[in-house]
Amino acid sequence: MLHHDAVGPRHGRAAVSAVLRPHEGRPQRLLVVVAHPRDAELALAGSVARWVAEGSLARLVCCTSGDGRAADAGADPLELAATREREQREAAALVGYGSLTFLHRPEGALANDLALREQLVREIRSFRPDAIATHDPRVIVSDDGYVNHVDHRECGAAAVDAAAPAAANAMAFPSLVRSEGLKPHVVSRLYLFWSERPRVAVDISDQLETKQRAIAAHASQAPRTAGETVEPFALIELRS
Ligand SMILES: [Zn+2]
Repeated sequence: MLHHDAVGPRHGRAAVSAVLRPHEGRPQRLLVVVAHPRDAELALAGSVARWVAEGSLARLVCCTSGDGRAADAGADPLELAATREREQREAAALVGYGSLTFLHRPEGALANDLALREQLVREIRSFRPDAIATHDPRVIVSDDGYVNHVDHRECGAAAVDAAAPAAANAMAFPSLVRSEGLKPHVVSRLYLFWSERPRVAVDISDQLETKQRAIAAHASQAPRTAGETVEPFALIELRS
C-alpha cells in the first residue's frame, strides 16, 4: 500500500542535489503545524531537536490524529486516534517539544476554513512564535508524480493564513482579544517543508539518531528511516 507520506522526504533527497544555503540561524520560538501524526518527525525532527538543544522553544500542533488511515477498512477510528496520539506524544518528547496540541480534525477532511484558522491564531497568539514551520501549501502534484495529500495542503494554507495577516490583526477573531486576552502578534518567518522550492538546509548529522528514534515511536505506521543528514526548507521572511 502506498502511504501518503511515503514520498514526502523525496523532496528532501531531490533538494540535496540542488544548491541550498546552509542554515545556521534558528528561531527563538518555533510553532510547528502539521496535518498528521509523524509528519513533523519525517519533515523536521532533526532541525527541531538541534534548535531546542541550542536554546529554542518549540511547540507542536497536529491538526488530525491519524484516525483515517489503516490497511483495514473496518479499523476503529477512535482506537487509531488514541494510538497515534500516544505515539505522537512519545515522539514529541524525544524531539524536545515543550508542548503538543491536537486539534482533533478528521483525517482526510482537513479544510482551511475560518474555524481552523481561529484555532491556529489562538495557538500563535498564545505562544507568540517568531517562526512557524508547516507544509508548503503550494505543492499539489510534484514533477516526480507525488500527489501531495490534501490535508497537507490545507494545513499549510491554514497555518500561513493564520500567521499573516490574521494573527497580527486585532479584528480577525476579535473574541480571542476580548474574551481570552490574546493580543495580536507578528510572525517574522516561515519554514515550509516538503517544498518544491527549498532555499536552505539544516545540518542534522548530530540529530539523525534522535530523528530515527522519534520516527520509530510511530509504531502503528509503516516503518520509515530518517533519511538524509540535512533537512531542506523554503525559508521565507514575512513583510511586516
Ligand atoms: Zn501526512
